[in-house]
Amino acid sequence: MTFEQLNLDPKILKALELCGYTKPTDIQAKAIPAILEGHDIVGSAQTGTGKTAAFVLPALHRLATVKKTGNTPRILILTPTRELATQITEGVGKYGKFMRCNIASLVGGMPYRQQLRSLSRPVDIIVATPGRLMDHMSNGRLDLADIEMLILDEADRMLDMGFIPDIEKIIGYLPMSRQTLLFSATMPDEIKRLSEKFLS
Ligand code: AMP
Repeated sequence: MTFEQLNLDPKILKALELCGYTKPTDIQAKAIPAILEGHDIVGSAQTGTGKTAAFVLPALHRLATVKKTGNTPRILILTPTRELATQITEGVGKYGKFMRCNIASLVGGMPYRQQLRSLSRPVDIIVATPGRLMDHMSNGRLDLADIEMLILDEADRMLDMGFIPDIEKIIGYLPMSRQTLLFSATMPDEIKRLSEKFLS
């Protein structure tokens, strides 16, 4: 299979060519068509398999092809660590090189100043660790009412780090009409329960 066959937006295909990617990895070939069809998915994949692009590419495709209705964030990516948030932000920069896309990275252990500055302008994608996102939400700095796509990255690690109660609270603020993608290397019972509760 090729990236062209996945019907991704030409601006994304151009960026992938520049990255030197010749074909989708296994998780990309399986997840991307289902996501583009609008399904919720559970992706079982570890770091190193190309899972970041498996959700970043369809998220960017949505931004490129579906007109925005307001100025509030459209995509929310929750991830357990700063390192993963950085990797995702870099991916958005690389794969979204030929489109206009504003990203805010809201991660714990980092100064608030830059995060507040990034929230002072319109944002398309939020990449966040759950605790810090809750922090910004409780201060009324974030409107998540128009989130179109929620991505839970490394859900099993978020479970290990005690983030599940925060995640459940955050999901309570998101519209029911959103698409939800859950990625996890392992499927403990608590993650199965979470996917049954929050994915259609
Ligand atoms: P990840 O599993 O998301 O941590 O990605 C692992 C590495 O694979 C990253 O350095 C990506 O840049 C790279 N990568 C992702 N998709 C592809 C692809 N289709 N072809 C070649 N490299 C890729």
